[in-house]
Amino acid sequence: PAPHSRPPLTVYLAAPRGFCAGVDRAIQIVELALAKYGAPVYVRHEIVHNRFVVDSLRAKGAVFVEELDDIPETDQPVIFSAHGVAKSVPSAAKARNMFVLDATCPLVFKVHIEAARHYEEGLQILLIGHAGHPEVVGTMGQLPDGAVTLIETAADAERFVPRDAEKLAFVTQTTLSVDDTAAIVGVLRRRFPSIVGPHKEDICYATTNRQAAVKAIAPKIGCLLVVGSPQSSNSLRLVEVAERAGCPTARLIEGARDIPWRDIEGLGSVGVTAGASAPETLVEEVIDAFRDRFDVKLETVTTALERIAFNVPRELRPNSAA
Ligand code: SF4
Repeated sequence: PAPHSRPPLTVYLAAPRGFCAGVDRAIQIVELALAKYGAPVYVRHEIVHNRFVVDSLRAKGAVFVEELDDIPETDQPVIFSAHGVAKSVPSAAKARNMFVLDATCPLVFKVHIEAARHYEEGLQILLIGHAGHPEVVGTMGQLPDGAVTLIETAADAERFVPRDAEKLAFVTQTTLSVDDTAAIVGVLRRRFPSIVGPHKEDICYATTNRQAAVKAIAPKIGCLLVVGSPQSSNSLRLVEVAERAGCPTARLIEGARDIPWRDIEGLGSVGVTAGASAPETLVEEVIDAFRDRFDVKLETVTTALERIAFNVPRELRPNSAA
């Protein structure tokens, strides 16, 4: 249809959205490793939780496996995903003489170090996080079995029976809901006033900023679309944050194909954001799909500026001889 015949739609774009510094670094590690060492490079677990990213790296020669056992004898690089790994994984790699490039996000690594320090100080450690997420498996696996207890909800925090209420510490997953985590930490601090932990939690800057941006646009829109994969913890949290901030519908979509047109017709305004592992091209496709059907007015709502970037491992930096 001619532009004037299309109904108007205001699209509020959340900023920041999409790639964080840890995801950007992890993808760079795979790409630089492919450029330097050639295919295949092996990647343990999806490098970041996004199907589009994984498929495009696979097309360039990355081989994704769930466990090191799935990798044949090789001199080619073996890359650990951004979510981090249990201590048993690098030791198994070492035993097999594998050439490892670790794409664990430095902000996840920081949580591993905190947990190890608490353990050395003789504290019982609580990890606030979601069971089964690879970051949780990795963080729990920094320490011997039983050293870390998982707390998923405020009810878990109420029920928890410590070995010694004076010798407790907590750490958190980096991609949690800021509000839910504050409630859980509140329960722990009330029940165990001497519990040791970070100032607030270990939720990373990218998770915090993306949730704040969603809160800012939620009151303006009838529907929020979060571009991201169903395995992506931080993307799922953005859907929840929007719903709790009063946005009537919030949907996770993997790309333009999944746009729920029926939810959008007649609304006049929608919000768009993307999880930390979702590339901007997917957001652009969504906007283009809107433009095909509507007379789009694009408004970016910026609640924070991000300038964080992380270095890739030394072997992959320019002029490295390794
Ligand atoms: Fe690192 Fe946060 Fe990105 Fe996870 S979401 S990779 S912790 S910056």
